[in-house]
Amino acid sequence: MKSLYGVYGASGCGRGVMPLLRAERGKGESRLVFIDDAPQADAANGHAIWTFARFMDEPAATRAVVLAIANPRVRETLDQRCAEAEVALIGTTAANVVMMDDVEVGPGAVLSPFVTLTSNIRIGRCFHANLYSYVEHDCLIGDYVTFAPGVRCNGNVTIGDHAYVGSGAIIRQGVSVGVGATIGMGAVVTKDVPAGATVIGNPARIMEKK
Ligand code: UDP
Repeated sequence: MKSLYGVYGASGCGRGVMPLLRAERGKGESRLVFIDDAPQADAANGHAIWTFARFMDEPAATRAVVLAIANPRVRETLDQRCAEAEVALIGTTAANVVMMDDVEVGPGAVLSPFVTLTSNIRIGRCFHANLYSYVEHDCLIGDYVTFAPGVRCNGNVTIGDHAYVGSGAIIRQGVSVGVGATIGMGAVVTKDVPAGATVIGNPARIMEKK
């Protein structure tokens, strides 16, 4: 019987993750499908799109899921769904990712092409580092954190759970980013970001709610 792998999320993120998973797990008897709660089609890029129930019903020798949705809160909810269903959570790492010394990354991480994690770094569950992002030395990153493409996270930065860092943002050495914070695209973060805040611009400032 085959091994069954699901990429949860059949939209933009998922279609970027599927080729990474296929390179790692697509050989032999394995079958790779998308899982989506609101499927817009039967298949994408040659892979079927199933509901989670369909994925769980399919006979398989082993079954595992990669969460491929950029929204940190959605990833947490789906991580819990997978745990309740007792289906394994796995990550996927592009072949050209660079990881240096003493890097610990929690389960479920998606590390896209050209990502670099340098040395002495701790990262929690279900981290997403999209294309060309880097994490420099001694960073501490929580659970369900998302880096959009091209994030430059310099040394000794601390990032709380559920933070979302927009494309091309630069985080200065030593800064702390609070739980659930959002950093806008291209922001230059020179000082600490409070929990739940959204910051934008250069230098990044808190975006007040109107
Ligand atoms: N989705 C899902 N379950 C959820 C939330 C989202 O299956 O609880 C799916 C949703 O139907 C969509 C995808 O995840 O197909 C998210 O796509 P979106 O374009 O919003 O984000 P991205 O692909 O950039 O993460």
